[in-house]
Amino acid sequence: MRVFKFGGASVNSADAVRNMAHIVQSHLGAEPLVVVVSAMGKTTNLLEKLVPGVSSETSQLRQQLESYHLDIAKGLIADDQSLVAKVRSLLQQFDDTVASLNPVADDYNYNYDQVVSYGELLSTTIIAHYLNSYGISTLWADARQLIITDDHYREGRVDWEATRRACSKHLSAEVLQKQGCQVVLTQGFIASNNHGTTTLGREGSDYSAAILANCLGAESMTIWKDVPGFLNADPKFFHNTVKIRQIPYNEAIELAYYGASVIHPKTVKPLQNKGIPLFVNSFVTPESEGSAIGDFHAISPETPLYIFRNDQILLSILPRDYSFIAEDNLQVIFGLLNELGVRVNLMQNSALSFSICIDNNPQLVGRLVERLKSMFRVRYNDNLQLITIRYYTQQVIDSIVVDRPVLLEQRSRTTEQLVVPAKAGE
Ligand code: ASP
Ligand code: MG
Repeated sequence: MRVFKFGGASVNSADAVRNMAHIVQSHLGAEPLVVVVSAMGKTTNLLEKLVPGVSSETSQLRQQLESYHLDIAKGLIADDQSLVAKVRSLLQQFDDTVASLNPVADDYNYNYDQVVSYGELLSTTIIAHYLNSYGISTLWADARQLIITDDHYREGRVDWEATRRACSKHLSAEVLQKQGCQVVLTQGFIASNNHGTTTLGREGSDYSAAILANCLGAESMTIWKDVPGFLNADPKFFHNTVKIRQIPYNEAIELAYYGASVIHPKTVKPLQNKGIPLFVNSFVTPESEGSAIGDFHAISPETPLYIFRNDQILLSILPRDYSFIAEDNLQVIFGLLNELGVRVNLMQNSALSFSICIDNNPQLVGRLVERLKSMFRVRYNDNLQLITIRYYTQQVIDSIVVDRPVLLEQRSRTTEQLVVPAKAGE
């Protein structure tokens, strides 16, 4: 069995869905294909604003949610009222859900998952209907019955035992054979616990597909993207990118950790654990060869890889009494970072100070600095860029830094990391 994942950009219009259906059709085989789909286009961003308490001006956004999905549905199957009726009934359920929620701050995370999950429910309802009408017999599966999490809303942690049991109950070979379907279509990103819907974190659909691939013992997983494969840099920030044809699992995990956005950081591990290869292919040129992440010894072709994290802040933390930074200081600092949930992208210790590079999340940074200032002296620089270069050469580093001052630098045998002021406009 193979697992495919299509993200929001691959299903953001009727034409895009047609293209997706074409790709699915050309890969049908003896066994059903499991297809995981995200919300259409930027629907998740829109839904975030419809969580109770977030915005008072919701009627226009609600209207937008409706017209966007109805337009796509009608664009796909013009003369079929049953699909329009299905979409309308789901939107009615959405309204009922929103109305039933208590808009208090304490319930925000729970409310978020109940509301935002409708993006994936809408997209898969439309696409399943379309695939069936296109002649591909498709079973719509509710991911909330397949992926079970704990009660960390907005970032559910998978209960692997329960998920494995649920997958073999609902999607075992016997069940699928009985259904006689060619495709099982399900939602990315969403899951459930005992109390309702949960989600796996923004951009979590890759992870959903990997969880299913692991639990179903898939032979491979393929992510269909708007880039030709796994590139050595984000084409938004870098010209002349090189496609990496083969990437070892651990390399992909490192790259996702440093911030490579092509795959969600949690995605690779469940695949690696079962030795399932991950292909990254282009939905724009589906026939061309993409990238493979798997049991390889080294990346191929060998080339420097660049990861840019923008909008970074560098905090330098110094003892108030101008003494050395000691282990007890570090313990306090790490305790605070952990308590506030601040992710450190790079850190460095010297005799007199401890420095951390973090994302500029104004609320979080404000609280962190305030708490730190009650115990330490704190200096900070903002508007910075954290650059990670794997397989660097000095020439490559110089060409990236140019004449910017380097505020922090760390170098290992394979990886160079630099914190520099952002270039104008970045
Ligand atoms: N729709 C969700 C998001 O936009 C999940 C995903 O696309 O992976 O974050
Ligand atoms: Mg997405």
